[in-house]
Amino acid sequence: MLLVGLTGGIGSGKTSVSSRLAERGAVVVDADAIVRELQAPGQAVLAAMVERFGESILLPDGSLDRQAVADLVFNDDAARADLGAIVHPAVRDEIARRVLDQADTDNVVILDIPLLAESGWDGIAGTIVVDLDPEIAVQRLVEFRGFAEADARARIATQASREERLAKASVVVDNSLDLEHLEAEVDKVWAWIESQRTAQRDA
Ligand code: ATP
Repeated sequence: MLLVGLTGGIGSGKTSVSSRLAERGAVVVDADAIVRELQAPGQAVLAAMVERFGESILLPDGSLDRQAVADLVFNDDAARADLGAIVHPAVRDEIARRVLDQADTDNVVILDIPLLAESGWDGIAGTIVVDLDPEIAVQRLVEFRGFAEADARARIATQASREERLAKASVVVDNSLDLEHLEAEVDKVWAWIESQRTAQRDA
C-alpha cells in the first residue's frame, strides 16, 4: 500500500480530484463520507449526539438535521468541543480500520481528510494539496453548491490558510482553472504517485 494524504480548503476541489484518482485505480478513504455514515440513524455516534444535544437535532424521519447541529455549535465553543469529542475519535478509528484493510495490498490509498493539514496522519508517503485562490472557491461554492457568499467566506476563514496548507504539500494540484486543466494536474499527481511507488518498491 502507498498511503497518500489529500487536503484542501472547502470547495477547493478535493472530491473532484479524488474521483479522478479513483478512475486511475486509487482507493479513496473519504473522511466526510465516513462522518455521514457514522451519523446515520441507528449508529452509536448519532445516539451519543442526541444524548448530548437533544432530539431537536433530528429531522422527523429520524435522520440528522445538519443545519440544526451547525446552528447549535455556532458561537458555542463548549458545544463544538463536545461534538468533536463524540465524532472525531469514531471517524479516526474508522479511517484507521479502512487503511489497515489495505495494508497488505499494492493499492494506492488516498486519505481525503479536510483537516489533514491541521492534524496529520501517521504513515503517509506525502500530501497532495488542492490549491486555488480562495475567491474562486467562494465563487464555486455559491454557483454550484448553493452556499450564501457570507457563509462560504466564514467557513474558509475558520480553516487553515492557503499558505499553511501549501507548506505541508508534497505535490500541489492547481485547481484555479477549468476541468480540462484539472485533468492535466491529476495526471501530474499520478506521475508523482508512480514515482513514490517505485521508490517504495526499491527501498
Ligand atoms: P468540500 O470542501 O465541500 O468537500 P471539495 O473540496 O470536495 O468540497 P468539490 O466538491 O470537488 O470540492 O468542488 C467544489 C465545486 O466546484 C463542485 O461543484 C465542483 O463540481 C466544482 N469544481 C471543482 N473544480 C472545478 C473546476 N476546475 N472548474 C469548475 N468547477 C469546478
